[in-house]
Amino acid sequence: MLCPRTNASLEPLLIGGITVYTSVQGGVFFDNSQIFKFSSPELKHGQVLLKYLSNYTEGEGDVSSRVNCPKCPSIVMMRRYFSPVKAVEIDECPGCAGIWLDSGELEKIHENHLTPKERKLLAHEMETNHGFITIKSPASRFTPTNKNKSAHEATVENLVRLALLGL
Ligand SMILES: [Zn+2]
Repeated sequence: MLCPRTNASLEPLLIGGITVYTSVQGGVFFDNSQIFKFSSPELKHGQVLLKYLSNYTEGEGDVSSRVNCPKCPSIVMMRRYFSPVKAVEIDECPGCAGIWLDSGELEKIHENHLTPKERKLLAHEMETNHGFITIKSPASRFTPTNKNKSAHEATVENLVRLALLGL
């Protein structure tokens, strides 16, 4: 399979019995619905893959254009949000349900994963503050990730994003 951004070949990577396909720019292709084995920061598979991808932080340059599926080269992938927290846009193949993530997108999916505790906290915040939560604009997907951000700050940002969505 070839990288949909650069046409360089994708390298198979076996993680805990599941094969994913990675590009040297840090992109990754998941067959079928296997992304869900990697999409939460609590999942061992996800931790291992994120660590591996962190060695490849080059980025693909412009990632706004639509891409064809690495597995079904004649099919253009659809762009959609990964979750109701509309923070990360992914490319999904309508033919094989494969998913392509550009460099850094798995990290963002992990960052925006809300634990049940965080969801509860958000509900509580919205009740007690009657909606008076300081709102920052959600970061664009092209904004470089601030690696120094503390876990607490990241959580607050996630909550604010959810609040913006009225969830
Ligand atoms: Zn496909």
